[in-house]
Amino acid sequence: MTSPTTQPQSHVVQFGSKTIEFELVFEDRRLLKIDVHPNDRVVAHVPEGKTLDAVGERVRKRAVWILRQLDYFEQFQPLPPSKQYVSGETHYYLGRQYRLKVIEDRNQRVKLIGRYLHAFVSDPSDKGKVAERLQLWHRQHARRIFAQRTEQCFAKLKNEGVPFPEVKLRRMPTRWGSYSRPGTILLNPELIKTPLYCIEYVIMHELCHLKHPNHGRGFYRLLTRCMPDWERRKSRLELAIL
Ligand SMILES: [Zn+2]
Repeated sequence: MTSPTTQPQSHVVQFGSKTIEFELVFEDRRLLKIDVHPNDRVVAHVPEGKTLDAVGERVRKRAVWILRQLDYFEQFQPLPPSKQYVSGETHYYLGRQYRLKVIEDRNQRVKLIGRYLHAFVSDPSDKGKVAERLQLWHRQHARRIFAQRTEQCFAKLKNEGVPFPEVKLRRMPTRWGSYSRPGTILLNPELIKTPLYCIEYVIMHELCHLKHPNHGRGFYRLLTRCMPDWERRKSRLELAIL
C-alpha cells in the first residue's frame, strides 16, 4: 500500500449522454486502477506521470462497466438512517402506514398483508438484509406504478407533440424527480412511500418539462391545464413522512 501524494481531484468524462465524474489520485504504482465505491465515487488510482487525457481515455473505455457498478450500488443507498428494520416499526407505502413484521424464512420475500408489511428473511437479526429486501420490494412497486401513472399523465399531453419519455428510477437525496435530458425523466423510488396523487404530481411536473425544460410561464400554464390542483398535491408532498 502506498499513500496518495496529492489531494483527490474531481474530473469528468462524457460517455454518450452520461457524465462520469471521477477522482484522480496519483500514487506510486505501476498500473492504473479504477474503483467504483458504493457512495457513487469513481476513483482512478494513477501512476505518477500519467496525463489527465490518458486517464480520461481509460475511464471512457471502462465506462460501460463503471455505469453498471454505479447503477448496482445506486439501488441500495442511501437508507433512511432513522429506520431500525425491526418488527413493530412503521413503514410507508403509497402514503399509508404499515407495521413491519420480520419473520424468519428461507424463502426471502416481502408481502403486504392487511396493515402489515411482512419481511421474510433467513436471518431477522441482519437489519441490512431486511432493509435490502424492503428496498427491492419498494423498487419493484415503484417501477410498476410509476410506469402506469406516467402513461395516464402522458395522455394529457397528447396534443403537445412530445414523444413518450423513458422513465428511470434514481435515488436523489434532495429531489423527487428530475428532467435531465431530452426524452428521459428520473423519478426517486422513495416517492412510492407517498400518496398516489403526490406521485402523479411529480410525474406530471416532469412530463411538462418535455415541452418546457425550464420553469417559465409556459411550463406552469401547461402544468395547471393538465393538473389544476397541482399546488395542493405539492403541499401534501412537502409533508410526506418516509
Ligand atoms: Zn421542474
